[in-house]
Amino acid sequence: MKNLKANELPQVFEREFHARPKIFRAPGRVNLIGEHTDYNDGFVLPSAIGFYAHVAIAPRADEKLILKSTAYDGQFEYDVARLPDKKQDEWADYVVGVAHQLKRAGIPLSGANLLLHSEVPVGSGLSSSAALEVASALALQSLSGKTLPLKQVAKLCQSAENEFVGAHVGIMDQFVSCFGKEGHAVLIDCRSLDFQLVPIPPAVDFVICNTMVKHELSGGEYNERRAQCEEGVRVLSKFYPGIKALRDVSAEQLTKHESDLPAIVYRRCLHVVEENARTLEAVKCFASGDLAKVGMLMRASHESLRDLYQVSCIELDAMVESAHGVAGFIGGRMTGGGFGGCTINLVEHTNSQSFAKAVASRYKAKTGITPDVFVCSAANGAGLEAEHAAV
Ligand code: ADP
Ligand code: MG
Repeated sequence: MKNLKANELPQVFEREFHARPKIFRAPGRVNLIGEHTDYNDGFVLPSAIGFYAHVAIAPRADEKLILKSTAYDGQFEYDVARLPDKKQDEWADYVVGVAHQLKRAGIPLSGANLLLHSEVPVGSGLSSSAALEVASALALQSLSGKTLPLKQVAKLCQSAENEFVGAHVGIMDQFVSCFGKEGHAVLIDCRSLDFQLVPIPPAVDFVICNTMVKHELSGGEYNERRAQCEEGVRVLSKFYPGIKALRDVSAEQLTKHESDLPAIVYRRCLHVVEENARTLEAVKCFASGDLAKVGMLMRASHESLRDLYQVSCIELDAMVESAHGVAGFIGGRMTGGGFGGCTINLVEHTNSQSFAKAVASRYKAKTGITPDVFVCSAANGAGLEAEHAAV
C-alpha cells in the first residue's frame, strides 16, 4: 500500500474498517536558516513542505485502539484504558506517546481505528516523525469533541517525542507542522513561541538534497554541543547577570570575553550568537526582496556550522559545493542537526528541475552516492483534510 495516492485513503480505510473516516494531515518541514539555535532559546526559520502524513480515523464500538500504516504490514492493537507506558521501539510509539499526552491534557480517548499514510520520506531529516505525531494528535482529539489550541498540540507532540520515544528534539518540527503556511516560512522565537509568517517569493522553490549518509560518530556530539553552549552561558552570566541562554548574548559581549572562555566553547557560542543574528537578518532580506543577501546568509550559516560548530561532514560539504554556479541557484546550506542528512537550496522556479538534476550528478561524481532530491515549496500546516472528510 506504500504507493497509494492520498486521495485513495478513504476507500482503503472503508475496505479495511467498514466505516467512513475523517482524515487529518500534517506536513514535514525544512529549516531555511537558524540551525542549533532552538535549544539556545533562539530563532529558527523553517517552512512546512508539501509532503504530508495523512491520518484517517473512525470511532469503534469497543475501547480498542487499532493502528495501521500503509508503510508497514500488520497492526497494533491496544486497550485505550491500558496503553503501554513504555515504548516498544515501533512506529506506533509516536501515536501512543501522543495519546498519553492528550489524556494528560484532559482529552478523553475512546476506541478508534486509525490508518496512517505518509508522503514524508522517513529518516531523511524532513521530520516524518513530527508530521505523524501532529496528524495523529488532531485525529485522536477529533473523536473527543474537544479541541486544544494548536500551540498546545505542537507542545504535547514534542513532549511525546521527548518523553515517550526518547528523542530530545526541540519544538521547531511540531510547531511548523502545525503553523506552516503556503508560500511562507515561519520565524519562530523558540523562547516565547511567538511566530511570524515570512512570505517567500512564488518564483522560488526549495530543492532539498539528501546526502544519503548519517554518521552516528560517538553519538554524544549533540549533547556535547548543548553542554558547551550551557558552559558559555554559565561563564558569561557572571559578567552579565541577565543572561539565561545564548539568545541573550550579543556579539560584542561574546567577543569581549573571548579570553574568559575555553577556545572551543567560544567557537560554539560564536556560531549560535551569529546564527541568531543571521536568521533575523534573513527575515528582513526576504521582506525587502534581497534574495542575493539571503543566499549569502545561507552560505555563511553553512560555513559557521562547518568551521565553528563542526557539525557538517564531507558529504554535506560536497552537496553544498555541488550547487554553486548551477543556473537558478540563490543560496544553500546543510539543514538539520548535521553529520549527514539534507541540504536546502533556494532555487528559481524556472530552473529548479534542471538544478536538481545537475546537483545530483555533481554529487554522484564527487562521492559515488546517488542522492534523493526533492523539489518543493512552502506548504500549509496541519488540519482536517476537508475534501476527504466523512461529514
Ligand atoms: P525523521 O523525522 O527525520 O523522518 P525520525 O527517526 O525522527 O526521522 O522518525 C522516523 C520514524 O517515524 C520512523 O522510523 C517511523 O517509526 C515513524 N514513521 C514515519 N513515517 C511513517 C509511516 N509512514 N508509517 C509508520 N511510521 C512512520
Ligand atoms: Mg524526526
